[in-house]
Amino acid sequence: MRTILLIDDDEACRIPAAELLRRDHWNVIEAEDGGSGLDLAVKSRPDVILCDLLMPRVNGYQVCRAVREHLELRHTKIIVVTGRDYASDRKSAEEAGADGYIVKPLEIPKLKELLDRLLPAQTSEPDVPKPVTSNGAEPDATILRFWGVRGSIPSPGQPTVFFGGNTSCVELRTNGQIVILDAGSGIRPLGLSLVEEFPNDPLDLTLLITHTHWDHIQGFPFFSPAYDSRNRIRIYGYEGAMAGLRSTLAGQMESPYFPVALSEMPGNLHIVELREMSFNVNGIKVDSCFTNHPGVCVAFKLHTPDGTVVYMPDNETKRSSSRQESADKILTDFVRGADVLIMDSQYTSDEYQTHIGWGHGCIDEVVRMAIATNVKRLYTFHHDPAHDDRCVSGMLMHARQMAEAAGSSLIIEAAREGMEVSLKSGAVATR
Ligand SMILES: [Zn+2]
Ligand SMILES: [Zn+2]
Repeated sequence: MRTILLIDDDEACRIPAAELLRRDHWNVIEAEDGGSGLDLAVKSRPDVILCDLLMPRVNGYQVCRAVREHLELRHTKIIVVTGRDYASDRKSAEEAGADGYIVKPLEIPKLKELLDRLLPAQTSEPDVPKPVTSNGAEPDATILRFWGVRGSIPSPGQPTVFFGGNTSCVELRTNGQIVILDAGSGIRPLGLSLVEEFPNDPLDLTLLITHTHWDHIQGFPFFSPAYDSRNRIRIYGYEGAMAGLRSTLAGQMESPYFPVALSEMPGNLHIVELREMSFNVNGIKVDSCFTNHPGVCVAFKLHTPDGTVVYMPDNETKRSSSRQESADKILTDFVRGADVLIMDSQYTSDEYQTHIGWGHGCIDEVVRMAIATNVKRLYTFHHDPAHDDRCVSGMLMHARQMAEAAGSSLIIEAAREGMEVSLKSGAVATR
C-alpha cells in the first residue's frame, strides 16, 4: 500500500480528501502544519506529499525545499495544493522542488490522474525499496558518509556530541563498491552498521589507508566484518617510514596490546602495499599524492561517475619558504577542480602559529587553497580533539565568510559524524 502525507492547516479541505484517498486504498497520514508535516515525512517516508502552499510558520515552499534536502526522501513526490492560481507561484513551487501543482477545490479524479503520472514505476511494486547490489551501493548514486571526523585521539562527550568524537573514517559507495577511507575509531560503528544492513550477504570491501598514525588505524581491531570468514577485505596503503603496512597494522594487535592477532582475523584480509601513485579499485581509478605530514602519508583522489573526491585528512598547508611552495604546488595541482575535498583543517590561524611543523592544516590556508583551485565542496576534517562543537561551528562560519568575501561559490561544511552526502544531487542527510 502506498503512503500519502497530507499537510494542510485547513481541515475542511484536508479531512474529506483524506477520507476519499483512504477509500481509494491509500495509507493516509495527516499533519496540520508544515513543521509537524516535515517530522512525519522523515519518519514515515511517504510516496507522495500533498502540501498546502500558504500555512502559518512553515509554508509549502519551505516544506518543498526541506524535503528536497533530505536524501532519504529523494523518491518522495511533492504535490502543492493552493487556492490561488498565479503563474509566479507555480514557478516558485517548481523551483522549490514540487513535482505537481493543483488548484483548490481538490478534485480527486484530477489528483489521481496526476498521481498516476508521477508514480508510474511504483504501481507494480510499491513497497519494495530501491534495489542494492550485493555490495550495498545503489548502482546509480555515489554516496559519502562520515563515520569519524576527529584528529589525533577520539574525543567523545557532551562538548563534541554534534560533530562527533570518533577518529578518521569515511565511507564511499560508488559504482557498486563500498570503499572505506581510513580505519580510525569511526570504522567500528561503520562495521556494525554494515553487519546490520547485510546480515546474510558476504561483504566485499576495500579499505584505503592514508598512513599508519594511530588515529587512522586504531579502529580496525574492532571492525566486525573482519571477523566473518565469508567476507573479503582488501587493504591498500604505502610502506611507512619505519615499517611496512602489514607489520604496522599487526603491531597494534600484538599481545599485550590486543587479544587477537591480525593474522587470526578470519575475514580474508588482503593487504596490498602500493608502489604506484595511481591504481584501480574494481574499476574505480584512484590517484595518490604525498602530503606535508610526518612519516609517509598520502591523500587519495577517487574518480567516481559522479565526480572526484579528494580525501586529505592529514596535511599542513603552508606557503612560506620556497621549498614548501614547490611541495604545495603538487598538492594544489592534485586537488584542482575536485568536486569534493575532505581536508585537514585542524587549527585556527592563531593556533597554527604555535603549531607550525606539526603536520596539520590551518583553516584559512585550506579555504584559500580550495578557492584558488576551484574546488566545488570543501569538508573541513580532522577536527582538533580540544575543539568543542561551538569552536568547530565558529571555524566553519569563519571559513564561509572568507569564501563569501572572496566572491567564491565554494560550498563549505564541517564534516560531521553521521553526515551523508549524495554526490549526484548534493543533497545532505543525517543518519
Ligand atoms: Zn591524523
Ligand atoms: Zn597523522
